[in-house]
Amino acid sequence: SRNGHPMAGVPIRRGTAYINQLLKKGFKVAVCQQVEDPKKAQGLVKRDVIRIVTPGTVIDESVLDAGTNNYLASVYSPVGGGRIGLSFVDLSTGEFTCTVVESEAACIGEIERRDPTEILLQADSKDGLAALFPERAITELPAEAFEAVPCEELGVDEAALQAAGAILKYVETTQKAAQAQIRPLRPYVISDHVDLDPFTVSSLELVRPIRDGQERGTLLHVLNRTSTSMGRRRLRRLILAPLTDRSTIEGRLDAVGSLVGLSLVRQELRDRIKDVHDLERLIGRLGAGRTRPHDLSLLLKSFGTIPSIARGIDEGVPDGLPEELDRIRGALLDPDVEELCTRYACMLVDQPPVDPRDGGMIRDGYNAELDRLREETRTHRAALTTLEADEREKTEIPSLKVGYNRVFGYYIEVTKPHLDKVPERYRRRQTLANAERFVTDALRGLEEKIALGEERAVALEIELFDEAIDAIRGRIPEVQSVSDALAELDVFLGLADTAHRNRYVRPSFTVDHSLSIRAGRHPVVEQVEEFVPNDLELPEGRDLVILTGPNMAGKSVFLRQAALICLMAQIGSFVPAAEARLPIVDRVFARVGASDMLVAGVSTFMMEMLEVAAILGRATAKSLIILDEMGRGTSTFDGVSIAWAVAEELARKTRAKTLFATHYQELTGLADEIPNVVNLHVAVKEMGRDVVFLHRVEAGTAAGSYGVHVARLAGLPDHVTEAAERILDELLAEAPLSNLGPRQIAERLPLFGSADHPVLMKLRGLDPDRMTPLEALQMLSKLKSELD
Ligand code: ADP
Ligand code: MG
Repeated sequence: SRNGHPMAGVPIRRGTAYINQLLKKGFKVAVCQQVEDPKKAQGLVKRDVIRIVTPGTVIDESVLDAGTNNYLASVYSPVGGGRIGLSFVDLSTGEFTCTVVESEAACIGEIERRDPTEILLQADSKDGLAALFPERAITELPAEAFEAVPCEELGVDEAALQAAGAILKYVETTQKAAQAQIRPLRPYVISDHVDLDPFTVSSLELVRPIRDGQERGTLLHVLNRTSTSMGRRRLRRLILAPLTDRSTIEGRLDAVGSLVGLSLVRQELRDRIKDVHDLERLIGRLGAGRTRPHDLSLLLKSFGTIPSIARGIDEGVPDGLPEELDRIRGALLDPDVEELCTRYACMLVDQPPVDPRDGGMIRDGYNAELDRLREETRTHRAALTTLEADEREKTEIPSLKVGYNRVFGYYIEVTKPHLDKVPERYRRRQTLANAERFVTDALRGLEEKIALGEERAVALEIELFDEAIDAIRGRIPEVQSVSDALAELDVFLGLADTAHRNRYVRPSFTVDHSLSIRAGRHPVVEQVEEFVPNDLELPEGRDLVILTGPNMAGKSVFLRQAALICLMAQIGSFVPAAEARLPIVDRVFARVGASDMLVAGVSTFMMEMLEVAAILGRATAKSLIILDEMGRGTSTFDGVSIAWAVAEELARKTRAKTLFATHYQELTGLADEIPNVVNLHVAVKEMGRDVVFLHRVEAGTAAGSYGVHVARLAGLPDHVTEAAERILDELLAEAPLSNLGPRQIAERLPLFGSADHPVLMKLRGLDPDRMTPLEALQMLSKLKSELD
């Protein structure tokens, strides 16, 4: 503590690590430095804040995850209401976009999808908007910061441009240096991609698994065969925003398709791409003025690899390049980037120093003046050796030697026994235990020449380094186009590789919005177990499927696989099926029933109903809806009624393609009343007392629920499952189970009463065949009074 302020010191070299820790804890860190040369400063050396590091603006690669973008978001909500403007920048890659959304729900959806690490909001509206993002780092800015940026594109909503304006303002005030990597603002419309709300993203496990942190088990994991971080980030963005434009999707499928059959070419290209470093982020740091010698070296090496990749495409893909690949090849062969590459390819040594001021980063032969300075220094160094020999001879001290240390510079060292031979002109500098060290005018002169030469050489090296950086900075847009092309190529190669390995097929798209999947598979589940493929046919006039079947039969898997196949197709991937003809969907809603969901502290039924309300409000005839065990969170009566009403609304009004998995047999009655509803069930086979799960989806309804069989499989004790079976029989004889509330069911369960009740014991001892009607009546009244 100093003057009452807490203080902590850390070594400067570990500064970044400490800054990063503070960022992770949600702090912002102001970095201050001396801003004048201490040698030239008068009095106190001037210091200033040179940068403020915040979670959304950090570009240090040791904090960032290589495979995900780091977005800073900005939300602008006009005071009088109206459309909400959104803008996103990733300073590490330069991506800069904006859009508008109609509602707060859509705003939350877009924010969740981008998953920014920091959000900018207007100070005055903070209460309202900040409540929408309870878990995120919020930074308030004054209203003036939300000044619209100029935009050449017509028809872009003012609110979007205002959100973008706040981003630029914030970047300027925190970074205090030009950020040349920020790309021109790209406005986009939400409907350019499939609208996936946060629940759908999580329940389909697109990029994150529901249960633990392990990435295996996600669609991203199965599809990701990219070789670079750029490609991986691109794929991740695509999975979270599949496309809706048919010709764009077909173009991408053409590119993937042309590579599927070419295993060797693919391997060759992927090997070459691996040599390209994270160009996008390297150029990002360069634009921010934060390039170190090592970065420049990686950048130049990457430039050097690019032509061979372009050639690889040309030579490897015979008969006519698909348009996308041709475009990529063209983009890779950028003449300006090639020129940079030839100009600087021989500039740096293989292992340049961390700090340019250490010198030695530039190769001999690159610059004549630098070579001359270095040669001069070598000559002076050689002169030292000559001087040593001369002095030895003159003084007749055989052990005399010239040495160097940081504090005293060059010196002549004479051991104690010879001190009497030291001449006048030697000046004493340092005394050791058994020697003394001296300097002479000649030695001083040489030393100054060496120091001066080295200083000049380092200054020149830094000048040359900066010159290269400036030249590249002038070509940032070109390098960014090249890195975009590489990322795209990497994604195509990866998707082709996945398609080949997993025997996927190219999907085609229907105009009438019908859907037909033959022998479809779940892309993730098939990776871990023997999989039973299934068909799904929803021709025109069939929209809603009621899928029944016992627990563990495969309902949830079947539902998700349909959604995943549609999404995969729309990112331009081949799909796990024998044949797939699919509609192009505008939105996908996936909801898992309360019991399958990990929500703490919220009434699960309320949650479910909120979700269903959101779907009914937003789904269109072009949407795909997956409802898995909806209505589970409430009593059977409520559940069935609500599920029925929702299904009816979806089938009759919305007409979205809907898959509805349920264990309520009653719902199968819908198909009798509504023509576009069909029943499917997952078949099981009874073998004696056991059931075998066939995982086969068939037409019609399931025979029973087999819950007791599942309980047995799960290892419940025999006497418990036997009791359950007895009760089930009784209940079924009396009334369908589903007509009873949970309370009534519980009351009938002797498992929870006593089996050895005296009345029961007596009843067991009776033999009605040997009783007269009168005796029976008397006994009945006696038992009744005992019970009372
Ligand atoms: P339900 O939703 O009907 O209770 P799930 O869809 O969760 O059942 O499936 C239960 C398990 O059965 C899955 O975890 C998976 O291991 C297996 N399974 C489901 N469908 C298939 C299939 N088509 N082929 C092979 N195994 C499957
Ligand atoms: Mg299920």
